[in-house]
Amino acid sequence: MANLALLKRGAQRAITPDVTVMPAAQEGVQLVGATREELGEQLAAVGVPPHQIKMRVAQLWHWLYVRGAQSTDEMANVARPVRDALGAAFPLGSAELVTEQISSDGTRKWLLRLPARGTGAPVEVETVYIPEDSRGTLCVSSQVGCTLNCTFCHTGTQRLVRNLTAGEIVEQVVFARRRLGDFSGERPVTGSPATGRMISNVVLMGMGEPLYNFDNVKAALSVIADGEGLSLSKRRITLSTSGVVPMIGRVGAECGVMLAISLHAVRDEIRDELVPLNKKYPIAELMEACRTYPGLSNARRITFEYVMLKGVNDSLADARGLVDLIRGIPAKINLIPFNAWPGSPYECSDWDTIEAFADIVNRAGYASPVRTPRGQDILAACGQLRSESQKLSARERRALAPAP
Ligand code: SAH
Ligand code: SF4
Repeated sequence: MANLALLKRGAQRAITPDVTVMPAAQEGVQLVGATREELGEQLAAVGVPPHQIKMRVAQLWHWLYVRGAQSTDEMANVARPVRDALGAAFPLGSAELVTEQISSDGTRKWLLRLPARGTGAPVEVETVYIPEDSRGTLCVSSQVGCTLNCTFCHTGTQRLVRNLTAGEIVEQVVFARRRLGDFSGERPVTGSPATGRMISNVVLMGMGEPLYNFDNVKAALSVIADGEGLSLSKRRITLSTSGVVPMIGRVGAECGVMLAISLHAVRDEIRDELVPLNKKYPIAELMEACRTYPGLSNARRITFEYVMLKGVNDSLADARGLVDLIRGIPAKINLIPFNAWPGSPYECSDWDTIEAFADIVNRAGYASPVRTPRGQDILAACGQLRSESQKLSARERRALAPAP
């Protein structure tokens, strides 16, 4: 419990002695990742009077998201009694670094341990940093595991353990910025030319289906994009979904970030197999949700991700089908060479096939960059993430019921 005596000693005049203080252990409540409203509630809970809340929230916001403070002790301009009470009542964050792997290409993968929630055990989640010449991209997880069973995806072999809280999603960004020395005042700026920071872009393409954890993802994105804090432009944040059709419009209307669709096939028979969620939301419905995506324009295109699987979805007829399917939608196509993982049931298409496929898409007027696999030597590339919650063989996985 926070120590109200401390607050009184600090002569915070308006503090009332009967304030109820939240216990530190209250599930998911931490300072990093909190929205302004939640910080206000946390401050009120430790007895900060209403007329001070706005000012204190602004101070905390700066320390948490601009300076990357690691403890309330650092928050020099916050009155000592408030700092102490907050520190006693709420953890700053909860992620613990378990392992850091650095690929020969500079990609970094962090395994983070997060505390138990409810009756569950502590969980582990992966976050990946991909440095490129013109930008640095952080790939963030939204769930531990995934309920969906896309047959080419390593995360799909792991059952869903739980949703991440908004705080845990934001904490991945705060953690990575800290680890990379990317907070203001930490080091001379040497980051990406685009923003001067190591992390210039965030993609929700780690573990999990973000639209099955929409409320937490939305709250987290509002913190990550806040111009007075972490300040990632919404144009530099991309949410990738396997196609949860009823939620797609809300991404545009309520989050305003860029949208990526894991398409991977142009015919329902094949997509049903690769992305079993397609049985529930078939391609025609998915395309309709894309055509009506709020905010869609040539400046805000949808990215269609297409994993190249040898002999499965990589024919020239598929390439032409893809062009027909997206006609009229401001779009770019991201061709992803399949990244194998232990026991994976597919092979990556040959390079010539990928080039011929890209050529057809390009000639139809769509940018179709081929995503260079990054961090493969540390299993950090797309679709290779998986923490150790449950192992299933490819056969067992295929035998699983389709997505709920
Ligand atoms: N669940 C969301 C976001 C996470 S997956 C989604 O499915 O969109 C991020 C991207 O990696 C998706 O496009 C996914 O289809 C792709 N992916 C998954 N496994 C892959 C693999 N083994 N090789 C290449 N890309 C893969
Ligand atoms: Fe889940 Fe996305 Fe992997 Fe499919 S591709 S199993 S939705 S993480």
